[in-house]
Amino acid sequence: MIWGEKYSEFREKVRAFALEKVAPSAVEIDETQRFPKEGLAPLAEAGYLAMVIPKEYGGAGNDMLEYTIAVEELSRVCGSTGITVAAHNSLGMSPILLFGTEEQKKKYLPRACAGELIAFGLSEPEAGSDAGGTKTRAVRNGSGWILNGAKCWITSATECFAAIVTAKTSDEEGSYGISSFILEKDMEGFTSGKKENKLGLRGSDTAFLHIADVRVSDSALLGETGNGFKQFMKILDSGRISIGAMAVGMAQGALDCALKFAAEHEEYGRKMASAQGIAFQLADMETEIEAARGLIYRAAVMKDRGMKYGPESAKAKLFASEVGTRCAFKAIGILGAEGLQVGKYPAERIWRDVKLCEIGEGTSEIQRIVIARDLLKSIGAFDALKIE
Ligand SMILES: Cc1cc2nc3c(=O)[nH]c(=O)nc-3n(C[C@H](O)[C@H](O)[C@H](O)COP(=O)(O)OP(=O)(O)OC[C@H]3O[C@@H](n4cnc5c(N)ncnc54)[C@H](O)[C@@H]3O)c2cc1C
Repeated sequence: MIWGEKYSEFREKVRAFALEKVAPSAVEIDETQRFPKEGLAPLAEAGYLAMVIPKEYGGAGNDMLEYTIAVEELSRVCGSTGITVAAHNSLGMSPILLFGTEEQKKKYLPRACAGELIAFGLSEPEAGSDAGGTKTRAVRNGSGWILNGAKCWITSATECFAAIVTAKTSDEEGSYGISSFILEKDMEGFTSGKKENKLGLRGSDTAFLHIADVRVSDSALLGETGNGFKQFMKILDSGRISIGAMAVGMAQGALDCALKFAAEHEEYGRKMASAQGIAFQLADMETEIEAARGLIYRAAVMKDRGMKYGPESAKAKLFASEVGTRCAFKAIGILGAEGLQVGKYPAERIWRDVKLCEIGEGTSEIQRIVIARDLLKSIGAFDALKIE
């Protein structure tokens, strides 16, 4: 493998785990919309719920490329597992590692690395793409804070033991007055809503987080007041790599399915794959997946090397997620009517699951804005395109 022996061995290890421990329940959790709680212990034991965290806090100490490969291989067999692992690592634990005090790291990270989930609450009913438009508020109360508001579409909202949420701590215009807090599920007033009935990723736990008069001390504040928006934008830069990895994994799962079907299934007295119209589609899928993988790995390696990688992760996520939906759609076509039978072949589930990759952590339109802004900035025209 061009990326080195270390990574191909790592991929084989994750692939074997995914096939043995994750794939067998992928259809059932999709059909029943059941969050596979029993899957957390094996994932934690294998280190996949601790990947981005250094060993001193109980983490597995993987680099970004290993993490990317793991999310890809898990998503190849089950998107719901992919998003659970990605949200926990990139969105739940990373903010604490990057912006937390030593006390916060010691309090939350070992528990999270052992398999208890942490969620990330940024989105609100009127603040999705416009993440700076958060309505959740934290008001000073003596030496602490009282929080009120709601977060929607939060991955692992009902199963998590803690969540990082943003709230306005001042009346400053736009995103400047936003801060972030670590809330624990056993705090009075902090509850989750009913699991959402989703088209895809139905085994993942997505729900509202309700925040009603939640009282916390300053020790719940993550970083300094007013820095919440900046922190979250940094977190999304790397989170987009994992959404792209999910998309590449699912696109590969769709190709695996279409390739096997076309190689085994016969029409006109010959294997489907021998028809050029089918073979060319398989070739296009393979080519697009390799290109998407290359972009995602490039962004991961740039992060590992400490380079600026925000626009690269946006480009990679944009391309990979659209490749994901295209490949899943093509796979269904190659399977014909069989492709539409729910639960029989993975293609239709992947098609439903992979759509999230064009939406979560910034829709394709938002990625285009990030990329175009970077382009304009490169010629000194930064203000020409504001995300407002
Ligand atoms: C399964 C799932 C899991 C999720 N997990 C989490 C989570 O763990 N934590 C979390 O905080 N959020 C989570 N989300 C929320 C997700 O991040 C948001 O859905 C996403 O940011 C888009 O916001 P929105 O749905 O409000 O869409 P909107 O912002 O309302 O956008 C609607 C449409 O308008 C377009 N649009 C918006 N603004 C512009 C613009 N300026 N220019 C051009 N077009 C624009 C969008 O591209 C989109 O097509 C999750 C969502 C899903 C579905």
